[in-house]
Amino acid sequence: MQALSEIQLDELQEMMRNSCRELEELLASSSESSKPVALDEPIGRLSRMDAMQQQQMAIASRRSQTQRLQLLRNALQAMGRDHYGDCRLCEEPIGYQRLKVRPETPFCLACQSRSEGER
Ligand SMILES: [Zn+2]
Repeated sequence: MQALSEIQLDELQEMMRNSCRELEELLASSSESSKPVALDEPIGRLSRMDAMQQQQMAIASRRSQTQRLQLLRNALQAMGRDHYGDCRLCEEPIGYQRLKVRPETPFCLACQSRSEGER
């Protein structure tokens, strides 16, 4: 696997910065909807069960968004230290094709599927 070029690094950095910004905005705007459902709150045609289910989903998606944001921040930091693009387990280059799809991934495809298989 080839090392990343300057242009590719710039592109990935730009992508990650944009995703960071989007996630931060998303998390800021969704903080209201993951609050507990107030008992006296008029919730219109939604039953309380629906409201609670939606709340659970909001909490779950906030959790995965927070995790992704953390990965993005780590990856941007790694980029600053010139460690970006290498798998954190086997230290092989992750490869541009994979990074383009998931620029924040800290693992190469082989290590990722190995760790998912262990679950
Ligand atoms: Zn690896």
